[in-house]
Amino acid sequence: MRLLFNDTPTTPYGYYSRSNKALIMNISTGGGTLVHEIVHPFVEANFPACPAWLNEGLGSLYEQCGEENGHIHGYVNWRLPGLQKAIKAGEVGSFKQLMAMNPTEFYGDSQGVNYAQARYLLYYLQQKGLLVKFYKQFLANQKTDPSGYETLKSVLGQTDMQQFQRNWQKFVLELTKEFELRLAN
Ligand SMILES: [Zn+2]
Repeated sequence: MRLLFNDTPTTPYGYYSRSNKALIMNISTGGGTLVHEIVHPFVEANFPACPAWLNEGLGSLYEQCGEENGHIHGYVNWRLPGLQKAIKAGEVGSFKQLMAMNPTEFYGDSQGVNYAQARYLLYYLQQKGLLVKFYKQFLANQKTDPSGYETLKSVLGQTDMQQFQRNWQKFVLELTKEFELRLAN
């Protein structure tokens, strides 16, 4: 969340304070927020130059999570309906744009869609068995590809990213909120 970059609380749910090395949160909003905020210090420690989209995408992916085969696994969650609506309305930009956003852009007016787009890109990679590979390659390539966009193309084996966007949008539109039956916590 934005508090990785600026220490002013902007959400009623919680945030990670780097200067205080503390997680500050309102746990009455549920375990998902707790997990989301716990992801940030781990990402920051592991990947200091992590762009906003990846940091928030991972935080958001694990808001709704459980364990599958001994590994943490994100499930479809409450961010889906808003993303589906934005896709239908043509309000979701390209991955190239999303991934190149600086924090000011990412946390700007369209942050709700940005969080959801980032989350469901990572969810897609997870479902295709590519998430771990993508994260490792992104980390290794971050100097030459700081946004992760070229790494994404490479991991997807995709040169036509407009085609990928159509495939991804179709994938997202076909997801359902069955997550409600699979709550892990
Ligand atoms: Zn966050």
